[in-house]
Amino acid sequence: MFDIVWFLIFIAVFGVVAYQRYSLITCVSVLALTMVIGTIAGGIGILGWILFILVALPIAYSPIRVSILSTKLLSFYKSVTPELSDTEKEAIDAGTVWWDGDLFTGKPDWQKLHAISRPHLTSEEQAFLDGPCEEVCTMVNEWEINHVDADLPDEIWAFLKEHKFFAMIIEKKYGGLAYSAFAQSRVLQKLAGVSAVLSSTVGVPNSLGPGELLQHYGTKEQQDYYLPRLAVGKDVPCFALTGPEAGSDAGSIPDVGIVCKGEFEGKEVLGMSLTFSKRYITLAPIATVIGLAFKLEDPEGLLGEKKHLGITCALIPRKTKGLEIGRRHFPLNVPFHNGPVKGTNMFVPLSYIIGGEKMAGKGWRMLMECLSVGRCITLPSSAAGGAKQLALSTGAYSRIRRQFRLPIGQMEGVEEMLARIGGNAYLMDAVTSFSTAGVDLGQKPSVISAICKYHLTERMRQVVNDSMDVHGGKGICLGPTNYLGRAYQGVPISITVEGANILTRNMMIFGQGAMRCHPYVLKELYAAQINDEHEQLTTFDEAVFGHIGFAVSNTVRSLWFSLSRNRLSSAPFKDETAGYYRSLQGYSSNLAILTDVSMGVLGGSLKRRERLSARLGDVLSHLYLASATLKRYDEQGRIKEDLPFLEWAMQDCLHNIDVAIDDFIRNFPSVPVGLLLRTIVQPYGKVNDKPSDKVEHKIADILQKPGPARDRLGNGQYLTRIEGSLFGDLEQTLENMVKVEPIFDRICASMGKKLPMTQLDDLAIQALAADIISEEEAELLTATEAGRLRTINVDDFDPQELLASNSKKVAKPARKRAVKAATPDTAKSVDKDTSAAAAKSTAKDTNSVT
Ligand SMILES: Cc1cc2nc3c(=O)[nH]c(=O)nc-3n(C[C@H](O)[C@H](O)[C@H](O)COP(=O)(O)OP(=O)(O)OC[C@H]3O[C@@H](n4cnc5c(N)ncnc54)[C@H](O)[C@@H]3O)c2cc1C
Repeated sequence: MFDIVWFLIFIAVFGVVAYQRYSLITCVSVLALTMVIGTIAGGIGILGWILFILVALPIAYSPIRVSILSTKLLSFYKSVTPELSDTEKEAIDAGTVWWDGDLFTGKPDWQKLHAISRPHLTSEEQAFLDGPCEEVCTMVNEWEINHVDADLPDEIWAFLKEHKFFAMIIEKKYGGLAYSAFAQSRVLQKLAGVSAVLSSTVGVPNSLGPGELLQHYGTKEQQDYYLPRLAVGKDVPCFALTGPEAGSDAGSIPDVGIVCKGEFEGKEVLGMSLTFSKRYITLAPIATVIGLAFKLEDPEGLLGEKKHLGITCALIPRKTKGLEIGRRHFPLNVPFHNGPVKGTNMFVPLSYIIGGEKMAGKGWRMLMECLSVGRCITLPSSAAGGAKQLALSTGAYSRIRRQFRLPIGQMEGVEEMLARIGGNAYLMDAVTSFSTAGVDLGQKPSVISAICKYHLTERMRQVVNDSMDVHGGKGICLGPTNYLGRAYQGVPISITVEGANILTRNMMIFGQGAMRCHPYVLKELYAAQINDEHEQLTTFDEAVFGHIGFAVSNTVRSLWFSLSRNRLSSAPFKDETAGYYRSLQGYSSNLAILTDVSMGVLGGSLKRRERLSARLGDVLSHLYLASATLKRYDEQGRIKEDLPFLEWAMQDCLHNIDVAIDDFIRNFPSVPVGLLLRTIVQPYGKVNDKPSDKVEHKIADILQKPGPARDRLGNGQYLTRIEGSLFGDLEQTLENMVKVEPIFDRICASMGKKLPMTQLDDLAIQALAADIISEEEAELLTATEAGRLRTINVDDFDPQELLASNSKKVAKPARKRAVKAATPDTAKSVDKDTSAAAAKSTAKDTNSVT
């Protein structure tokens, strides 16, 4: 039949054609040629040919393939494929597939990734960031907003409206700013760095809500009326979907609109009687126009034959009779406006439906499409902005705060936290930049937006936790000088909103990814639904045999990559990043084969096996996060000083992929299939370790001293060194501290003793008197001491002040202070201003560090 050498040659040729993914006809021709040569060389006999023809002919010759194989496969497919619900269908159809599709192919095209144009800001957008956006950050007093007023002050509301912060997505012809998704992201990053109330107040109207829905689906009259009003803040919008009985399962809202006739503006018109109860609605307490989602029913057939029209979105003016609105929820001490909205048998005309009567019942699709974009921008950008801000502030704090006579950032345990904060901030910024670039290219990336929402908010949670640990009591004691505690309190909000994270990870990312991004799954599904039998069969044949070829190719590629530990494949760069590209390539093939096997073995039950699905989603997600980070590194010019951030992010992603695959295989319900998958995908077990101590040490070092890599990490954040800016003060004090350290060492050496690095102002007097330092250096020491004390001190209060009923009466703004460079002229005034401001404040700073 075959001698052993020719058998191996045949297998090798098969492996090469499968690896290269040649077309079916090319593969069969190359294999046939190999058979011919093998026969001439005497290594292949008649039995070998019989076997080859038996297998190849039915596959390669389409009349046989279609009439026998595909017919059987189609009827089997129909018997095992679960029916999709309408809401699932609409979720799958909404949005587009972009780089996520490439990651699912098992063969991502790196040239394509790097050819995607880098997002940029127009001069107008840059001016907005440098102008109004910077200015509103200077106006923020977090303590007053959170603790005293439970709201933004009137000046900030007016400023936001005047400068059209709520109109970033609204087109210019309606008076909006029409900013790119990338620009919106940069604005939200900056705002989130200073105040969660500010960023959520600005984020919501620019995300899923009336503005977005009107622009895409509104009637001309609705657009002409509402959009100019929304653009200048004359109308404040909110969007109400969630209610007490329908949170994550939003498609099951019990809220209804019954089509009926009623009186509107003195005339009888066709309209809807709305009964609904919504909660958790952001901006509802102050909204003037409410976007409302409900199920429309037409029991009397006034609109046509369909009785259950389905989810519909309408705009309800606040003044509408019967609307109950105005009460507030209190979300975790981050008091942006949020509250319930209710209505019982409220009559409104059909013209209130967004897009008019023709859009009745199309609400779910509208929401899914808008969500694909909004989820890419608002929460991921706020998370990334928060992480960048905390990376810089925690780095600065770690250098300024000393224990055991060392900056705490030099302790290895703290280095680990700093590295995680810095590495995550780099990755998160990369992901928002890449994803918003996709949106600006016209994508509505539903799977990517779920990845961004879940992973960036989870990484933010990690960053905040780590920052809290590094800050110790300084992060815990709330007060005007605490820049961290409210972020810690508020983190679960972003975890829960816009699709709670457990659901997003377990159901959405892979659930939708496998359907939408897989090159053949959706084609098979749609083919099976075609009514014409002939067309159904031929379309299904094309899809299913494409799928089989794809699976065979990925099996071969996976084996090749995993056995060679990803060393024998190509990469687009020959530097330190090459190995990362190769690993991602291997894992992309692994994902494809794991997906096919699990769908083949588990069929429809995979949908219920959420934990398996979540792990495959983790593989896809980390492939995405990693490729976005590689792209950032490339776009920024492959700067070597930034390499530790990139290495941390890549090592973290590869390790997470390894863990996800291992967990998936260990928990796969069929042990033999699990063993087979282990052999193909992970024959050596987990091979990627967590980020190394060496890389982590480098990141900790970068965060603790001023420099270009650190500046690039914090790019765009509010760090301005002016009075009242806690972050600007930290930056200035860090800079001073770094300059002071060698002076301090010189003083210690001259005095012949190792002094504690405290009371630097007293030390300055002594050292100046002893002629060890110059006057300029003495002033620097004094200024540094003042900044050091501001950094490590926390607020304390008269017990009465902490009573909620008294806070309004006694709490005053955060310490106002000048934060100036420690030049000889200003150093003294820094001290003076500080004490004056401190004296004004009723929230006292304690000078004790205990
Ligand atoms: C501060 C805040 C602002 C909000 N703003 C708005 C707004 O402006 N408009 C609006 O319409 N809504 C808004 N929401 C609602 C928000 O979108 C919902 O809270 C969210 O969808 C989750 O619903 P739920 O809180 O009822 O949790 P539940 O649905 O009860 O879920 C509880 C937990 O179960 C998990 N879970 C549920 N189903 C599954 C599943 N199949 N698989 C795995 N896990 C699952 C969830 O992930 C979650 O962790 C807001 C909520 C908050 C808290």
